[in-house]
Amino acid sequence: MSHSDLDFIRQQIRTVPDWPSAGVQFRDITPLLSSPKAFRVLIDQFVHRYFDARPTAIAGLDARGFIIGSVLAYELNIGFVPIRKKGKLPFTTVQESYELEYGSATVEIHTDAVGPQDRVVLIDDLIATGGTMLAGLRLLQRLGAEVIEGAAIVDLPELGGSDRIRAAGLPLHTLVSFE
Ligand code: AMP
Repeated sequence: MSHSDLDFIRQQIRTVPDWPSAGVQFRDITPLLSSPKAFRVLIDQFVHRYFDARPTAIAGLDARGFIIGSVLAYELNIGFVPIRKKGKLPFTTVQESYELEYGSATVEIHTDAVGPQDRVVLIDDLIATGGTMLAGLRLLQRLGAEVIEGAAIVDLPELGGSDRIRAAGLPLHTLVSFE
């Protein structure tokens, strides 16, 4: 992983202050996706990371985890599994809820999406409090899968999510961080 590639990725992430609410610095990855060069550098980072680990599936978190996770799965020639916000998946599901600053959120996965034979990488765009990724981890584990690593483009370490994820026993790989 070269520093210049990571600096390049970092430069393509746009910070939008006070969105969606006052005090939030939203880290917007859309410039990273719309630049063909940056998108390729980004996906190549994850392909190199996971090529030798031979996961059997990539699980992506709703919704930006779908964008990077599906391309990564395609490049690794393995399947992609969506973990969706409640109410979007048509077949039987298992659900996990987690606390937000105001209220709670629920994510779900199809019961036949993965099983004990699977070694899964769980991916999202960003780790803030870690609640979303930890809920995804619990879903995959309830279906018997081994989750070999969590992955994200951005870590916000001051919010403590990456520490919480690692403390829960999930190795975590992120590319860039913002204070
Ligand atoms: P958390 O569950 O607190 O780790 O939040 C992570 C999820 O919320 C990810 O799916 C992110 O896309 C989104 N998210 C939270 N905070 C931000 C932020 N400051 N900028 C962009 N996305 C965010």
